[in-house]
Amino acid sequence: MAEEAINNNSSVSDQWGQICSQLKTEVGETAFDSWLKPLTPGSFNDGTVNICVPTRFMRNWVITHYSDRIHKIWEKKNPEIKNVNFIVQSVQEEVHGLYNPTCRSLLKKISSSPAPSNIYQSGINSVIANNNDTSLNDSLSVPLNPQYTFDNFVVGKTNEFAYAAARKVAESRNVSFNPLFLYSGVGLGKTHLMHAIAWHIKQQDPSRNIVYLSAEKFMYKFVRALRYKDTTAFKEQFRSVDVLMVDDVQFMGGKDTTQEEFFYTFNSLIEEGRQIIISADKSPADLEGIETRLKSRLGCGLVADIHPTDFDLRMGILNNKAQQLGIELPVKVAEFLAQKITSNIRELEGALRRVIAHSQLLSDKEITLDMTQDVLKDMLRSYDKRTTIDEIQKKVAEHFNISVKEMQSSRRARTVARPRQIAMYLAKQLTSRSLPEIGRKFDRDHTTVMHAVRKVEELILEDASLAENVDALRRILEA
Ligand code: ADP
Ligand code: MG
Repeated sequence: MAEEAINNNSSVSDQWGQICSQLKTEVGETAFDSWLKPLTPGSFNDGTVNICVPTRFMRNWVITHYSDRIHKIWEKKNPEIKNVNFIVQSVQEEVHGLYNPTCRSLLKKISSSPAPSNIYQSGINSVIANNNDTSLNDSLSVPLNPQYTFDNFVVGKTNEFAYAAARKVAESRNVSFNPLFLYSGVGLGKTHLMHAIAWHIKQQDPSRNIVYLSAEKFMYKFVRALRYKDTTAFKEQFRSVDVLMVDDVQFMGGKDTTQEEFFYTFNSLIEEGRQIIISADKSPADLEGIETRLKSRLGCGLVADIHPTDFDLRMGILNNKAQQLGIELPVKVAEFLAQKITSNIRELEGALRRVIAHSQLLSDKEITLDMTQDVLKDMLRSYDKRTTIDEIQKKVAEHFNISVKEMQSSRRARTVARPRQIAMYLAKQLTSRSLPEIGRKFDRDHTTVMHAVRKVEELILEDASLAENVDALRRILEA
């Protein structure tokens, strides 16, 4: 009896409909709309039912996340079902008449409903619209900076490893390290290296499809796709990507849905042997608010960090820039800049640009040390004034009448622990140091710092006298 019912295709559809409503309550509407709604039932044969999935991406995801559940529910409804198969039925194939008869219902769905009324159709329509549209990835990708090439990248001790890794990835025809994960503080050349890889690959083989985008843009696009119920089209965009570069992934911290989507995109591309390059401000293990499984995936290729610059590299960069701009930069001026502006390369370039602009505005006034010191007076003053963690520790310890040694010790007495937490909190607030960096200064790990920051945030709301103390310290440190 059951056999008969199943042999009749409309019954498979009915059962699928029931399964779908159950799944929808189980997984929630968003996940259902993204992953399960686009599936359509196909043929049933010999205990095996075929379900059509529009893309390989989706198929992988559905298999890892939902196939067991689908199988279980179906088996319960109908013991005749022994297997549930997921078959990729690409829309382009169908449209060009190559469709697989198992998935006829999919085509019917498209042709009978010209006006896209649900995500499935809107997803498909955009795929069709974008078929053969080479500009597709231009909109996904952000334009590359023509200055950010390997030729313009000055190599020194602090960045030679990251540079070598980037070159290797750019020059290899086969995927060498996957993913390549670059990390450093701001302004030290991560974005420059990523663009350089992209330029190099493009030059070697213009047909390769390279997508470079920031994690923020990925997030923005994904959230927009969710809002417009267009996640199928979103996923489709990544399907033909040969090289995917995502800059500044630390911005995905705490954004769980985006991370999940990224994790999935990431895995699918890696499985298909596409190259992925990621950058962040911390090592994979130290990324905050990123799921453990994603962290471990990010760290499973080659991880290369760029260290803070040293004097030689700063000199090299200044001379290189001056040469590019055709400017005569006196050694004394270069040395002055390289000694003073140590934070990062972006600021170093900014300082040089200011000096050059000034000399040119004053009808090619010669660049001298005096003039440089004068032009950069304000910048250097605020630069000198930047609060350091050492200073915070010193001032907070003084304020609470303990020693810096005690603050860094393992003592847990409240009289020491509280000032330590306040110092960690202020370090997070007043410096651009990361949690692990702050932790190191206190001989603790980053989770302790994170906990301290949260604790002080809570206490500020509850304890007026503590709030006053923190406020007073902040004023002293910012003065
Ligand atoms: P990040 O992405 O790490 O914040 P960027 O790649 O944006 O840093 O670099 C900041 C600026 O410094 C850019 O203008 C970049 O061209 C320049 N820069 C960084 N590293 C180098 C280098 N090794 N040689 C020349 N310029 C560099
Ligand atoms: Mg960058």
